[in-house]
Amino acid sequence: MTDVKDIRRFTLEELAAEFEKLGEPKFRGKQVYEWLWNKSARSFDEMSSLSKNLRSKLAETFALTPVSEHIVQKSKDGTVKLGMRLADDRLIEGVMIPDEDRNTACVSSQVGCSLACTFCATGFLKRERNLEVGEIYDQVVLLNKHALEHSGKPLTNIVYMGMGEPLLNYTNVMNSIRIINSPDGLNMAQKRITVSTSGIAKAIIRLADEGMKFNLALSLHAATNEKRDKIMDINHSNKLEDVMASLNYFYEKTGNKVTFEYILFDKFNDSLEDAEHLISLYHQVPAFINIIEYNSVEGVSDLKKAKSDKRDEFVNYLRNRNVNVKVRRSRGKDIDAACGQLANKN
Ligand code: SAH
Ligand code: SF4
Repeated sequence: MTDVKDIRRFTLEELAAEFEKLGEPKFRGKQVYEWLWNKSARSFDEMSSLSKNLRSKLAETFALTPVSEHIVQKSKDGTVKLGMRLADDRLIEGVMIPDEDRNTACVSSQVGCSLACTFCATGFLKRERNLEVGEIYDQVVLLNKHALEHSGKPLTNIVYMGMGEPLLNYTNVMNSIRIINSPDGLNMAQKRITVSTSGIAKAIIRLADEGMKFNLALSLHAATNEKRDKIMDINHSNKLEDVMASLNYFYEKTGNKVTFEYILFDKFNDSLEDAEHLISLYHQVPAFINIIEYNSVEGVSDLKKAKSDKRDEFVNYLRNRNVNVKVRRSRGKDIDAACGQLANKN
């Protein structure tokens, strides 16, 4: 995109102003806004309530860059992984996870990721660029189609747990949540949206002040700085003390408990001493804990998933200490759609 502006970067007010500049009445801005979001039009040509003339004027003035389905893979557990193509031909992935009473979309926020956590397949792709608001939105729209196809029901939840670090694409991620939440968009409650972060303290403080109501998950995975430094580079510049302080601020401002995501790795963070460290963090911030099974990623790391008896011992230890803990089973492993396995293999 050179000097043509991505039309989905504008708020409704900004778009109305753009239309005035073009010598068009303001209400056309509202009309086009509806086509862009509510009706998720994929081209100006589709906007049949506009004159042909206006449609071609818009096409000359603005870029509209829809995401298209590239490859669809279906797991035997019903999980659908979508490989998607961006208008500049880059590829991203998203996942639709059906469950008894919910359909969850897992969306990407960046092409690749700059953070290179040692256990994550996405971290081994370099970060190419941030996704635009419209590109995040399109993933939800496409995954929603698969939810409807699979169960006759639309998406109930969205997690920003695909490729990329959402808080390093801060503005676009916030704006994507706003439009997903808006009646002009998908009208989905913020309570049903979860953003997962590797823990960027400054950005967490900033988002606490946004007055938004979505959920926040922290990819913790190790409960001391010493261990976390070894697997997550981001911990060198964002120490656990600072991250915990930012989460407390987030809780103060939003009243939302945070979820700690903790992958259990064999002989790395699965001892009862590790459990004690985790409990100590749990007492510092109002939180839930999700224990996650590690999905091995070929060629990426020496880390292995914890043995199941170790996992049970770890989880029981937490439960006996009244920790609110859930064990999250992994979905879509047979098609590399599980957490941390998104790497554009195809
Ligand atoms: N960058 C953000 C969001 C994307 S990762 C973050 O790191 O939070 C989504 C979740 O998958 C994170 O909790 C991440 O730590 C986890 N994850 C990464 N690789 C994984 C793997 N191989 N197995 C299980 N979970 C993994
Ligand atoms: Fe990036 Fe999250 Fe993967 Fe770390 S776990 S490399 S932050 S996507």
